[in-house]
Amino acid sequence: MGVGAPVGMAIATVNPSTGQTERSFEAHTEAEVERRITNARAGFEELSRTTFAQRSAWMRTAADLLDGEAGDIARIMTTEMGKTLVAAKAEAAKCATAMRFYAEHAEEFLADVPAEAEAVKASSAYVTYQPLGVVLAVMPWNFPLWQVVRFAAPALMAGNAGVLKHASNVPQTALYLGELFARAGFPSGAFQTVLVGSDRVAGIIADDRVQAATLTGSEAAGRSLAAEAGKHLKKTVLELGGSDPYVVMPSADLARAAEVAVTARCQNNGQSCIAAKRFIVHADAYDEFTEHFVKAMSQLTVGDPMRESTDVGPLATEQGRADVAELVDDAVAKGAEVLLGGEAPDRDGWWYPPTVIAGVTEQMRMFQEEVFGPVAALYRVDSADEAVALANATSFGLGANAWTSDAGERDRFVRDLQAGLVFINGMVASYPHLPFGGIKNSGYGRELSAVGIKEFCNAKAVWIG
Ligand code: NAP
Repeated sequence: MGVGAPVGMAIATVNPSTGQTERSFEAHTEAEVERRITNARAGFEELSRTTFAQRSAWMRTAADLLDGEAGDIARIMTTEMGKTLVAAKAEAAKCATAMRFYAEHAEEFLADVPAEAEAVKASSAYVTYQPLGVVLAVMPWNFPLWQVVRFAAPALMAGNAGVLKHASNVPQTALYLGELFARAGFPSGAFQTVLVGSDRVAGIIADDRVQAATLTGSEAAGRSLAAEAGKHLKKTVLELGGSDPYVVMPSADLARAAEVAVTARCQNNGQSCIAAKRFIVHADAYDEFTEHFVKAMSQLTVGDPMRESTDVGPLATEQGRADVAELVDDAVAKGAEVLLGGEAPDRDGWWYPPTVIAGVTEQMRMFQEEVFGPVAALYRVDSADEAVALANATSFGLGANAWTSDAGERDRFVRDLQAGLVFINGMVASYPHLPFGGIKNSGYGRELSAVGIKEFCNAKAVWIG
């Protein structure tokens, strides 16, 4: 690590498949960060005066660039954080789709909204949406392109500038993103990466030229960023952790529910905020669901994420693997039953196998804590009431999945599951067309859709006499 590097995590590409450091980067100096914030402010001044049509054209070019480079950037993502190459390519394609979505819809989402002029004694009154300015985006490594693009596409289309502080273990992806939008034609300062550790975030938030911040990551990081932003009265959006329930009732198609459950838990090697983590199954469906589920989990191919046949690669970091192993060991020590997996293999890299644990009780840490790896906790309940109570017995409130063909139960789950997203007979996913975000300790604010693009806008009330 070079001069100016943070005391915390090194900024480096460490291949999780091997544990080998492939490239190290020096953190940007204070002077370099200062230069980039100055550029961001200038980028904002320029961008905010452009038309939607101009920004849409640039955004479409960025999407085309990304499509053309998807194979290369996917390889970088797989090398940096271990997701399968197939998943990485799909992520790049999803980003291009979201860019085109906002290129097409931003103007309509941010159109002036007329108010009742007479009621406010005006000749005309309306709401107009204006960009806030420079927004700091602190992002995680788990979907290293998507997490950033779902902020950047609406932010830039609204006329905001972005400064990206990406996770320290995905610097090559961060640098790629830091150039993509300028290459597509956006003003060069409008979206930039700063290579800094988390200890430098507070200083950037304090800068007068930065108007707001968004963070996707852990609860602890969210609390820290919000506290700093609070000191300076700056708007924040927080997308934090989750421990999503996956409720299965007897009327559901159990084979299908079990098949989808495997993807819901193990996609992205089990490291998704909206992964289903707690499987809450009615007693009348429990044995059948469990049999299908454990069998399908056991059939996953764990191995080299670059290979097309691989379903599950390594966890992204050594610490992440240690955290998962600790939660499983704690449950086992307190009497949980391991139906599958449960032990890290003895090999280089940060591997952890697909694992199913039954008999989880309130005393076990995984009852409350988020398990960020391919580990499913199974719970047996006797009624929909019990399922709802258990599903809500968590400090998180990000997504919730429920499987039933009973209309009454469906309505009950939609109404009573405490979450920002509820998916019935399917797995929670993010779409540009739907708002995304959580309640409780999963954070606040929304990304995506018309709701997301307004988060970093000034809804200015205009009154004309
Ligand atoms: P993390 O440690 O919180 O890191 C996320 C980002 O925050 C990184 O850029 C990190 O920088 C930075 N950071 C860490 N501590 C900070 C602090 N005190 N102040 C300011 N910035 C700080 O998260 P992770 O463990 O890598 O990622 C997994 C977590 O993210 C899980 O809880 C997951 O559920 C959550 N997540 C949520 C969503 C969502 O949309 N709700 C999506 C994906 C992931 P460094 O890398 O330099 O430490």
